[in-house]
Amino acid sequence: VPESSDWDWPLQCTTCGRPHLERAYICGQCGGHFDLAQPIVYQPVATVRDGFSRYQKSFPLPAEAWMPQLGEGNTPLVPAEVDGRTVHFKCEYANPTGSFKDRATAVLVAAMAAVGISEAVEDSSGNAGASFAAYAARAGMRARVFVPDYTSGPKQAQIEAYGAEVVRILGPRSEATQAVRRAAAEGAFYASHAYLPQGLAGMATIAFEIVEQLGQAPDALVTPVGQGTLLIGAYRGFAAMLEAGVINQIPKLIGVQALQCAPLWAVYQSGAAGLGLTSEGQTIAEGIRIKHPVRGDQVLDAVERSGGSLMAVAEQDIQAGVHQLASLGFWVEPTSAVVWQALRSEIIEDSKTVVAVLTGSGLKTATQSEAFSDILAKG
Ligand SMILES: [Zn+2]
Repeated sequence: VPESSDWDWPLQCTTCGRPHLERAYICGQCGGHFDLAQPIVYQPVATVRDGFSRYQKSFPLPAEAWMPQLGEGNTPLVPAEVDGRTVHFKCEYANPTGSFKDRATAVLVAAMAAVGISEAVEDSSGNAGASFAAYAARAGMRARVFVPDYTSGPKQAQIEAYGAEVVRILGPRSEATQAVRRAAAEGAFYASHAYLPQGLAGMATIAFEIVEQLGQAPDALVTPVGQGTLLIGAYRGFAAMLEAGVINQIPKLIGVQALQCAPLWAVYQSGAAGLGLTSEGQTIAEGIRIKHPVRGDQVLDAVERSGGSLMAVAEQDIQAGVHQLASLGFWVEPTSAVVWQALRSEIIEDSKTVVAVLTGSGLKTATQSEAFSDILAKG
């Protein structure tokens, strides 16, 4: 890990416009959220043949920044038949820690290394925590990860295997966030994948890869949405390619939530009143059980600008999705399987080229029947 320098993160507060000055996850002036100070550009490095580092000019990092590489990105795009139509599945479970989070974590940890941060806390339903633990290990950083107690066993084991300390928090997902915020208030650096925006530039690379793999922009992109960092990042990636003249149109972005915890879908359907109807209910889609998405407004804005939509899927349809995707050879965690119902709905009817993101590996879950009956038992 390189030494720290005078270089600082190119971020600014979305509320008061103040630049990022201290190692805080929210603005010290007004409590607002940070975002990237500059729009993401599409400028792949021609001399790098393939892989994530081809896009280094898109990242909010110093020139020649050291990056903790584990082979992130560059995931397969696999066509398969769904109800008589071809869908291209972006297999994000092929990332180094088994989920799409690695795109964001690689950039966030590089940004931390660039300013000399050597230890941090993070909260996660599992995938972001595992990803953070892996890249922290790669960068020689100490990591402490707060997870809900219900996080699946394989994910907890994975986080610990990389050498991070796991702190299990009883109660819903939001309790883990409260706990990590208390740790941050006591002085720990909070490497939040939700509050800190550097990872969005990493997420943008999924758009770059999809267009390069298809030779064109798809008409629609279907993805699970919890915090929505992938959807926001993809939107900005497509927007960067539009700006660069590489594509003519941003695909319709279709975000899918679990009906048990679907705040963005509720607002999309009913406006602000929808929030009052939102629960943080039990769902087998543990990775998108987010009642208060930090960048919810940006998710809704990206969906609207792209001409896309949001939908919510019932538990039995998520479970069916797991089995149907597996019957095509895709073994994904339930969180990823929410896309299945969307692919069979009229939501994509007028879209010719459709890409669905398979965000996380099925190997990360306890056996599906175990997980499902456990949740049914808890009601
Ligand atoms: Zn501010």
